Amino acid sequence: MKELNNNDKEYLLSTIRDIEDFPKPGITFKDITTLLKDKKAFGFLLDHLEERYKSYDLDFIAGIDSRGFIFGAPLADRLGVGFVPIRKQGKLPYTTISEKYSLEYGFDEVEVHIDAFSCEKSSPKVLLIDDLIATGGTAKAAATLVKQAGGDCVEACFIINLQFLKGDVELKKETTVYSVLEIL
Ligand code: AMP
Repeated sequence: MKELNNNDKEYLLSTIRDIEDFPKPGITFKDITTLLKDKKAFGFLLDHLEERYKSYDLDFIAGIDSRGFIFGAPLADRLGVGFVPIRKQGKLPYTTISEKYSLEYGFDEVEVHIDAFSCEKSSPKVLLIDDLIATGGTAKAAATLVKQAGGDCVEACFIINLQFLKGDVELKKETTVYSVLEIL
């Protein structure tokens, strides 16, 4: 089960709620809290991700602040690998490296601890995960950070890709991209 069939995708999609005009007019927010509270759907999704990634020989999963933590941490536990949080600027207590990226207006910044991927391997395999890719700015900055911190970003995984925004196109220049659900 490396990828889901259409019935399974429709099932998971049916558990995600669309909130119109949030956080501002014109945006349809994909609310994954309805998936999370549905233990069958959440378990089904984690089963799928575990099945897909169990043969990747990963060393770490890096989750993007904050909804990437919700999927990344239990998946890391299932796969028996470490979990690394990639956080918004100013949240991590130890020495960090950071990467800025542009938003519609202005900039944002993500950070990771400088020793986040230090282990017995010189280039540990890292899976990057977030709930959703929109323009791709956050994920591209996070993938850059993984590399700067010494990790080998083997894939970026999203539960949802807003494909019409083409955020995955730039990211694919950095790493392979897998999205469980595509919104056309
Ligand atoms: P981007 O950098 O544009 O790819 O934005 C991705 C980040 O913003 C992810 O961490 C998402 O959780 C969040 N995000 C952006 N657009 C949406 C949306 N329509 N629904 C839910 N989350 C979103």
